[in-house]
Amino acid sequence: MPTRSKRSALYKSHPELILNLGSCLAVLAIVAIVSFLLMRERTSVEQAAARSASNIVQLIESDIVRNVELYDHSLQGLIWAIQRPEIQAIPAQLRQPILFNQAVTAPERGDILWLNAQGDIVADSTSAIPRQANFADRADFQAHRDNPNLGLLIGQPFKARLGDLDWCISFSRRISGPNGEFDGVAAGALRLSYFNALFERLDIGSESSINLMNTEGALLARQPAAPDEPTIGTNYSDRPNFQRIRSQISGTFAGNSGRTGKQRLFTFARVGELPLIVIVARSADEVFESWRRTALFVSAATSVLCIGILWLTLLLGRELRRRQGAEQSLAALAATDSLTGLANRRRLDQVLRQEWARTQRTASPMAVLMIDVDHFKAFNERHGHAGGDEALRQVAAAIECSIRRPADLAARYGGEEFLVVLPETDRHGAQLLAERIRRNVEALPPFGGDTQPVTVSIGIGCHTPSAQHDLATLLGNADEALYSAKRNGRNRVETAA
Ligand code: GH3
Ligand code: MG
Ligand code: MG
Repeated sequence: MPTRSKRSALYKSHPELILNLGSCLAVLAIVAIVSFLLMRERTSVEQAAARSASNIVQLIESDIVRNVELYDHSLQGLIWAIQRPEIQAIPAQLRQPILFNQAVTAPERGDILWLNAQGDIVADSTSAIPRQANFADRADFQAHRDNPNLGLLIGQPFKARLGDLDWCISFSRRISGPNGEFDGVAAGALRLSYFNALFERLDIGSESSINLMNTEGALLARQPAAPDEPTIGTNYSDRPNFQRIRSQISGTFAGNSGRTGKQRLFTFARVGELPLIVIVARSADEVFESWRRTALFVSAATSVLCIGILWLTLLLGRELRRRQGAEQSLAALAATDSLTGLANRRRLDQVLRQEWARTQRTASPMAVLMIDVDHFKAFNERHGHAGGDEALRQVAAAIECSIRRPADLAARYGGEEFLVVLPETDRHGAQLLAERIRRNVEALPPFGGDTQPVTVSIGIGCHTPSAQHDLATLLGNADEALYSAKRNGRNRVETAA
């Protein structure tokens, strides 16, 4: 982990990077939090939908179980009556109300028949004179004939042969003779429109549906039943969704409708011990409609917020850059001499201290050149101060273009005096450079009508690693050398002893 000073150094060196990184992280965090909350909300919407579908399934299940029980009771009552010899003796017309429970066999629900061992109708709940039909070819009839232990058999949905020709499912029980021999079948048919009426009362949305199927995969009832919906009796046993439903007692899962391809939330349960399954298929579009609106609104608001943050970051970054630029130019200004453009005295002092310390540390040589313009008082008197200033600029430029190494520094020392700092430079190197400066100044064209060019005198102070100097001594030596150059005729270079 970076220490506090390292962190603040990082901030100072890359403030814009830190700012950009920080707001990108903030934006990422906001997006992550909002996504997490939206997904959690979606999950709870899904769970609530599954709960309400599961309640519907249980409601339907208990209603169906009760109805089937009623039917079964009627069948058992019929069988009990058939097996009483005294009831057999009653004429068919009188016998009918005794055989059939009128509460169960209301015509809108279905009918109950007594079939003899040949499959012919002996008695019929819907009319005193039994209708004429034979049911020996029916799978349920044959199943009871061949197996005495089937109990209540719930058959495949079928289209009634008699009455309203409605889709029905059959409930049947075997009638056994005194020795257990096959003596016919008590069969009831429940009209599937009864289930539709039950389902109709439940409001689950127009895109969703309630379905009753048998375990063989046949659709027995469906609500709402749109014209393009699959018809009763359609077999779904090969559909993956149905296979998944059949493999469990009850449950909930999301899957695509095999017919429309749209996403559905299926909630299903077996109806008691019966071979029936209630399935509520809710349209995901409907379930998530309100969530989707919320998600859209929240996403839009979050996007605006994030764009706002990024935009503010951009503005702040621009301001930061502007300020940094201003600071840099201020710092440069504070280190520059305004007349000549060379480093000023302040900067010179800084560099001198720095280079001197380095020289001490690395035990390397160092030299300074003290430069003074010759007879400048007189020059000023001839050309005025403005002319003098112009001459100083030209001399400064000549000095500046004479030094080559990046570590070298030329500065205005004060008035018409300049100082050049030459780190890692020995006496010989300093003399070469001083001579070059002197020549370059002398080579400047004579100023405004003068016959002689401007010249400079240069004193060199040298420090060698073996000498026990301090910085003031070095400067003093250079100053002394400059005075001897002045004494010795000016426009020349002298080196301190
Ligand atoms: P020498 O150095 O050769 O002995 O003679 P000098 O005439 O240059 O002597 P001195 O160092 O005494 O004079 C310095 C003069 O430089 C004084 C002043 O008129 C002039 N001077 C100093 N600073 C500036 C400046 O910034 N602008 C101008 N125009 N003149 C300046
Ligand atoms: Mg002077
Ligand atoms: Mg002078």
